[in-house]
Amino acid sequence: MNNTINASIITIGDELLIGQTVDTNSAFIGQELNKIGIWVRRRVAVGDVWNDIWKALDEESRESKLIIITGGLGPTADDITKPLLAEYFGGKLVVDEKVLAHVKYLFEKVYRRPGPILERNLKQAEVPNVAAVLHNAWGSAPGMLFKKKDTVFISLPGVPHEMKGLMTNEVIPYLLKNMGVQAIVHRTAFTFGQGESMIAEKLIDFEARLPLHIKLAYLPGYGMVKLRLTSRGEHKEAVEQELLPYFEELKGLVKEFLVADEDEPLEVVVGKLLLARKQTMATAESCTGGYIAHLITGIPGSSDYYKGSIVSYANQVKQDLLGVQQRTLTQHGAVSEETVKEMVQGALQQLKADYAVATSGIMGPGGGTEQKPVGTVWIAVGNKDKVATLKLNLRFDRQRNITTAALNALNFLRKFILTNS
Ligand code: AMP
Ligand code: MG
Repeated sequence: MNNTINASIITIGDELLIGQTVDTNSAFIGQELNKIGIWVRRRVAVGDVWNDIWKALDEESRESKLIIITGGLGPTADDITKPLLAEYFGGKLVVDEKVLAHVKYLFEKVYRRPGPILERNLKQAEVPNVAAVLHNAWGSAPGMLFKKKDTVFISLPGVPHEMKGLMTNEVIPYLLKNMGVQAIVHRTAFTFGQGESMIAEKLIDFEARLPLHIKLAYLPGYGMVKLRLTSRGEHKEAVEQELLPYFEELKGLVKEFLVADEDEPLEVVVGKLLLARKQTMATAESCTGGYIAHLITGIPGSSDYYKGSIVSYANQVKQDLLGVQQRTLTQHGAVSEETVKEMVQGALQQLKADYAVATSGIMGPGGGTEQKPVGTVWIAVGNKDKVATLKLNLRFDRQRNITTAALNALNFLRKFILTNS
């Protein structure tokens, strides 16, 4: 691992510290650096405070050879990153003619703001005379690159789409050209239906045998755990080859719960199964209120296999649109195995699909009874020959109950397709 490059990300802005803005920039930068073999070892968030930014620069330059900074480059007084960087690197702010021309172009031709350009906007063309300018085609604050000894500092605007444009078009090409990069390879096994502690129990021996340079990460989500193996080295193919037998063994150890050997959402996995079989599906949703439909239709091309949904929230709608029997509802209740079975049959008929999935449950916080506490959910999946049911006892808040119920319904459908097609 001789030429591993470690990077630090420093995000600047009070809004990040008080939780007003979620720091999505770091996630994007981390992903992009990772793809070219640069490992983000540390992330630091600081406010728009001179001493705090200065200290973060000092500290991170002791840890990393590459430091990416976002935020604090706006035209308002609260943004102090640029004068600070000028002083930190021993330069002074001077107008960069190319940036000035770009700023004028933006305000006159693109934004078409009436009247003369404000002084504060013209100031965006000032750059520390010790920086190399990274052209920001998406806005008026330029990116800047500084070197101190053998450490590279790159300052980018905080506005996410400007930061992304600069990362993709300026920063990554620069790094590929100027810093020797390594291969980092990830393989992800996606499991559903078992908690991370139980999975960890199954993997005790496997983890003990993993070479030190191969890392296993557990990434739990709603109902699911993603298991990611990561390795790095000089040559991508060699790293992939070495990782493969470990990944195969890992998949074998969790095969009961394995959904995919890629990091892809359940709705994509289900979509691929249906496409491969040239089959279709429909949904009849009560407690998930269309959330399953939302997940499925978020995937491009889902119109090839998704027919639609009947969001039958009220009992009357369950009867009128899905043909659920009045008797079923009064005898067993809306949240019952019998009701979701009839919902599936109704959806199969009304929406003319090969498979249908139905949900009915009590999502809380109110509405629970002793027999059917909050979190009781019935799911049914079926085709023209067969209907299967599943009962969940969830124990989360309303939003999480809805999400978890929808994901369980998709996973139940996935298993049904695999065994009944
Ligand atoms: P600035 O460069 O400080 O003027 O930031 C401009 C805008 O970008 C602000 O509205 C911020 O909320 C947003 N922003 C700044 N930093 C981040 C970040 N790390 N992640 C997402 N958005 C950010
Ligand atoms: Mg700011």
